[in-house]
Amino acid sequence: MTDGGPLAVETIVDGVAGAPGVAIGPAFLVDRRRAQLPRFHLAAHAVLAEHDRFMAAQQRALVEIDEVHARMEQLGSGEYLAILEAHRLMLRDPILVDGTKRRIATDLVNAEWALALTLKEVKAVFDRLTDDYFRERRSDIDVIGDRLQQALIGQEAPVATPPSAGAVLVAHDLSPADAIRLRDAKVAAIALNVGGKTSHTVILARALGLPAVVGLQRITESVGRGDIIVVDGDAGRVTLHPSEETTHTATERHRVFREKMRRRGRPVSGLVRTKDGTEIELQANVEFAQEAVSATRLGAHGVGLYRTEYLYMSRPDLPSEDEQATAYTIVAEAVRPQRVVLRTFDLGGDKFASPVKLGTTFDTASGLRAIRFAMRFPDILKTQLSAMLRASSSGEIGVMIPMISSLEELAFVKELMAAARHDVVSRGFVVAEKVPLGVMVELPAAVIIIRELLAESDFVSVGTNDLVQYTLGVDRVHQIDSGLYQPYHPSIVRSLATIANAAREAGKSASICGEMAAEPAYSALLLGLGFRRLSMNPIAIAGVRAALRRINARDAAAFAQKVLAARTTNASRAEIDSFNREHEIDVHA
Ligand code: PEP
Ligand code: MG
Repeated sequence: MTDGGPLAVETIVDGVAGAPGVAIGPAFLVDRRRAQLPRFHLAAHAVLAEHDRFMAAQQRALVEIDEVHARMEQLGSGEYLAILEAHRLMLRDPILVDGTKRRIATDLVNAEWALALTLKEVKAVFDRLTDDYFRERRSDIDVIGDRLQQALIGQEAPVATPPSAGAVLVAHDLSPADAIRLRDAKVAAIALNVGGKTSHTVILARALGLPAVVGLQRITESVGRGDIIVVDGDAGRVTLHPSEETTHTATERHRVFREKMRRRGRPVSGLVRTKDGTEIELQANVEFAQEAVSATRLGAHGVGLYRTEYLYMSRPDLPSEDEQATAYTIVAEAVRPQRVVLRTFDLGGDKFASPVKLGTTFDTASGLRAIRFAMRFPDILKTQLSAMLRASSSGEIGVMIPMISSLEELAFVKELMAAARHDVVSRGFVVAEKVPLGVMVELPAAVIIIRELLAESDFVSVGTNDLVQYTLGVDRVHQIDSGLYQPYHPSIVRSLATIANAAREAGKSASICGEMAAEPAYSALLLGLGFRRLSMNPIAIAGVRAALRRINARDAAAFAQKVLAARTTNASRAEIDSFNREHEIDVHA
């Protein structure tokens, strides 16, 4: 314990909200101060033996990743599997492996020393990058480097002695293996010195349902082992030496959070009926092929959005047609007989691919994103469309185009798709006769020309994340505290009504695949406006399902009319809150 004892004053430390939820428990401090690394010069005849020792350490680190991989597969965390894959590639990277071996041989230094020098060089390259995502991958190099060093000096992974159940882990950073051990030990939450919103530990914490606050700078120096600490992953802060009142509130919020996580993990059917029998399909949004498998197990009624751009990210080259066809086929087969909607890559803006290979900058303001970007690089889109068409023989697929703003863009895709079909068929692949082509409605421009877009496409899906961003002029990434990101704004509600009505008139399907679909607070509104298909993060399905089962479609329609009549944001919000209260909808489910 620190010397504060019962007299210590409650102290709040602000960090970055990593993974949601609240927990309170005794701190389990992981001392990551590294053991002094041995450094010595070698005799020339010892070089080969030192090479062997280094390669053995690499093997041990790879085996450890395999173990973590097996566990994450059971948990169905596709996003995290991709990070492990990146760690595996880094461990085998010639710059790291050959670079270290070369130093051993030329500088005649021991493996630990040679590795430390090589890592320093690699990290210097990452430090020069300005992209947040790539900068955060620097911490993956630390993880890999630490594991290799520990394997070399024969140390166990740092969290060898597991903390007791309910403890809060306080550390500088965590490796994947640490994190898995912690989960097995039933740790309640995580507080780290380093990390940001897309750092690997945060992604893992979300997948494991552990509240996490990261980027706390020196939390390891402020907390003593056994001190009671509150981690508020919603607000991004930790409280040291909590008062009686804070302890009471945190304990209650922790209980509610645990209950919510318990419910979310249970499989539920993605086909749900309202009280008066209207059927709604709840589908999954996925980022990685493997996730579709677990989403189907959780009950999702097909995949309404597969964000394929993840195939293009954090790699120096472009994914080949074969590689993509494999990924799309995995999803099509997992979801069969339901449908998967494959969205063509949405790169540019706040999403990115390796600029090295594509020779362009991704500037949000230029609008060169998604389909507009694809029009500059038609070959990349044609390769993707070819891979998608190949997957059409393995299940039901739809192809959907992001960020559409004009009929010209849609015509361009159709032409390219026809060429891709011709090409794929001439190479002997079987392609389904009809592959539905859909449009994402994410720009005010698309809402305004919705009738024309519907006439030229088979279905539409509303990307409310971008629609809110571009209608209200609020950056979706940097809006955290402004309170201006308001999906219930009259302009958004009326846009949604316009889209639903136009789709009904055209006899085509309109779904929602932005975050609005995942929030039980908006379930009645979306239903009342006429949407019958909602696609979301699979763990949100249970909460939305529970909300829809509490209402009548008829009441929801009348309620939606009231919201539509609201002239102000406050009035709209008040209508929604009052309906949800009256129908006892759990908006935090
Ligand atoms: C959206 O914009 O709502 C959407 C679903 O697409 P993404 O979040 O991938 O931009
Ligand atoms: Mg979008």
